[in-house]
Parts: sequence; C-alpha cells; structure tokens
Amino acid sequence: MFVNLGKKKILNNYFLQEEYMRDKYIIKKDLNHIFKNILIGTMCFGTLIIMTSSRHIKKLKIYNEEVITKPIEQVIENSSSSTVSSDIVSSSDSVIVSSALPISSMEEKKYYFGNDALIEQYGRFTVMGMNYDDYLRTMDNSFNEIIYDIEMDNDLNYDLKKLYRYIDIEKFLYDLGENNNARLYKLGESSEKRNIYGIEVGTGKNVIMLTGNLHGNEGAGTAYILKGISELLNKSKKDVYIKLLLENVKIVAIPCVNPDGREININKGINTWKANALGINLNGNFPSSEAGCLSYKEKIDSNISSNPNAATFPGYTLGDALETRILMKWYNEYIVNQNARCYVDYHQQGRVVYCTNFYTTDDRNNNTLNFVSDILSFFNNNRISNKFANGGTTTKMDGSGGGGTYYASNLADGLVMSKQYGRLGLNKNNLVQPALLFGKLTENNEFYKPANKSFVTCTLEIGTGDSLGYDQKALLNQEQEYYEYGYENILKLLMERTLAADVINDLKNQANITNNKVLIK
Ligand SMILES: [Zn+2]
Repeated sequence: MFVNLGKKKILNNYFLQEEYMRDKYIIKKDLNHIFKNILIGTMCFGTLIIMTSSRHIKKLKIYNEEVITKPIEQVIENSSSSTVSSDIVSSSDSVIVSSALPISSMEEKKYYFGNDALIEQYGRFTVMGMNYDDYLRTMDNSFNEIIYDIEMDNDLNYDLKKLYRYIDIEKFLYDLGENNNARLYKLGESSEKRNIYGIEVGTGKNVIMLTGNLHGNEGAGTAYILKGISELLNKSKKDVYIKLLLENVKIVAIPCVNPDGREININKGINTWKANALGINLNGNFPSSEAGCLSYKEKIDSNISSNPNAATFPGYTLGDALETRILMKWYNEYIVNQNARCYVDYHQQGRVVYCTNFYTTDDRNNNTLNFVSDILSFFNNNRISNKFANGGTTTKMDGSGGGGTYYASNLADGLVMSKQYGRLGLNKNNLVQPALLFGKLTENNEFYKPANKSFVTCTLEIGTGDSLGYDQKALLNQEQEYYEYGYENILKLLMERTLAADVINDLKNQANITNNKVLIK
C-alpha cells in the first residue's frame, strides 16, 4: 500500500547538535577523515530516507513538554568552574589512544571546599565537575516522539544469532515503534551524530527502566532488550495476563546507549572498546555525587586514566559526553517526574549483579538487596554451577564512581546539581554539598528529601567473556545464554515485582475469566 508521507518536520535538538565536543576533543582534520565523514554522512542520509519512507511516518512531532524544574541552588560565589584545555588529539575513526597515563601520575586537582579541614578530612575530586550551563542545557533537552500515521501490531522477531549494525537496530526500533502499544522517541545524538532512541511499551503507571550497550563492546544488552520487548508485545496479543500486565506497567528502555562504541567494535573486529567514540567511559562520566571522589584515606583506583582510551577515561569533565547527557535527562524524566520503580542497566562482564550504593540510605540499600535477591533467584533457580553472583557494591571513595546507576540513585535521593562542584549533592539551605562533604547519607539527615522513595537500581552483567563483541561465536554464545538463563521471562519477573501481590492475583483472575469467555464462545 502506498502512503503519501506529507512533509516531515526537521527536529531541532539544538544543544545536542552543538559543536561542543569538538572544542575539547580535537578531531584530526586530515583530508582523508573529512572525506570519509562526508561519504558516511551521505550514505546514512540516503539510508534514512529509504528507511523512513517505508515506515508510513506522517510527521515527527516535537515533544516540548516542560519536564524539569530548574535546580533551586542560588548563586554561589566562587563558582567559576575552570575547564581543562586539552591537548589530546582523539579521532573517532583513528580512535584509539595508546598513551593513557594513570591519573595518579598527573597532578591531582585540588578543589576549593571553603573549608580546609574538610579537605583534609574527606579528600578531593579527581575529575572536574560538569559545567553548570551545560547542565542547564542538558535539562532543557526534549524528547521527540516519532509519530506514525498507521499503527500496526505485526509480530516482530529479533534474531539473536544475527549481527545487527546500528542502522539495523534503528530499523528494528522503527518497526517496534509502529506497534500500537509502543512509543518511540528520538532522545538526541551521539558524538558521531547517530540517533539515540528511547522506547516505551505498555501504558501503566509503574515504570521499569532498562538500558543496554552503554559499553560499546557489550552488545548483548541491546539484543536482550529488543528481543525481550518485542516478544512481550507479540505475546500480549494472545496472552491476556501479559496484556493486563502491560496495562499496569510501562517498560521504558534505551536499548543502545552508545551506538558509536558499538560500531567501533564491529568495524574494527574487536571486542574491547567500552568507551564512546571520543574515548570516554560513559560509566565514569556521570556527575553523580560520588563521581571522582577520592577520600584522603583511599588510594586512587589504578584503572582510572587521564587520557581518552578504550575503557578507563571518565572524561575531562563530568557530563562532557553527549550520551551521558541524554541519559541524565532521561533518568530525570522517569525517576523524578514519573516515580519509576526500578532500573536495570544491562552490561556484559559475566553473570554478576552489582547493587547498593554507599551514598544512599540503608533503607534504599536494603530494598535494593531484596530486588537483586529476586533477580539472582530467578537466574539461579535449580542451578548448581555457573550461578549468577551477587557483586554487592563497587563504590568507594577511590576516584571512581560516576556510573549511570549511581547518578540514578542520587536522583531518587533528591540530590540536586551543585553549581560549585559540578556534581549532584545534598541541598542544605541552597548550598549544595556533594557526597565527599556529607559522607554517608542517612534518613535522619534533616536535609534529606528523597524524590522517589521506592526506586531501586542494579547493574546486570550478562554472560561471559566468550560472548563479548559481535563476531559469530559471540552472537551464538549470547543466544545460548539468553535461553539457558531464561531471559525471555525476565521482563515478566520485573513487571510482577513492581506490582503488589493482590494486584497480581486480581490480574490473574481477570485473565482466567477472560480466557473462559473466549473458550465458551
Ligand atoms: Zn559494562
């Protein structure tokens, strides 16, 4: 059937299109590189036209809902956040920086805390905070919903054995977005200007958040999320109980957070590139309260580098990666505004679940432990060997931190951005103090005002080293792992876990009644 497309609006995601990164991460401007970019750009544009024209898209709606209240912090003196002028040359296609120095070998940056005794007591930052104006622009970003003029509910099949280039992932997402129980959003662009998408499935109030492929070499997260969501939609057409669950729950996901990193691994035939295209490890780049905090008594984590590289560089400043910013806004929308119940970040370092966070309250840590315990039981049920392990907490004041789940947890705890320190902190009478200063967070702290009481989050490490990357062997291992560990039912577990037992019983009863009716008919 031929459908007239009408005129497509051009999205204007202004801050994400800025040349911000180009100032700090000087791209090699040799002719070869420029020519290649033009060529790739032309090819992508062509593909996009082919792709969109076959998708019955009538128009792209600009979704300008005001979802953020500006941080309440007032003007604080001495807020000039210095920027590091970089002499690093990192190219997105030559990629790969060989001379990464450990940060301990460079001069550690002392920050002004306004209280030397506190510095001596608590330590110092090892990474510059996020520029406050950049933070405000990050919070101003809008999600652009992709509107179809025809909705479909064709069955979708994600093939775990197949290599999906990012363009294939995009096509799959467009197909998914066409389903009448799903909504697709363009959230922004990566540093190499690939679109990053969010999807929503279901219409309930209980939000479950998922992300995958934050690390470029860990593609199983993308595959498992797309497989899981599409199968769920397929099932919901026949299985009344699943259909009812999706009326009570909304699953929101960014299946591929780091498309550039993904493509680098595929293009180079490697399985070691965790970072984004600029050599930033996104999971160290979030301006969480504990990001780059080095306690006076801790040794700095020896894995942290001061230069861009494949895995261990947290950025010149926190939040300087565009992918990080997209997630920051996305977290804020669902965790703070929509009171999300849980968030699982899919990684791929081998059957471990990490959880709990030193910088949150005991209450939240206990809830998180229960949550993780359910996930572990699910995977380890009747299993004698090759069990999932409980990785516990990995957060120390050792200069690390800055992971997405830490930032997410901070938001739930009601922490707000500090203009002075460039990371989240506890708002004490309009002076925002980061974790280094307030230390352990307790319910008794008079300034503790959680934004989301029940939120829990964990990092789910899929598979083993054999499944990393994108070659055929890795994909086959990922497929085997998916079925062996029952990933096809993990979303059902998460949905049931977010609903109260009596609600579940009620839905099961309704499903049976409806089934009976169908049978009688
Ligand atoms: Zn990872």
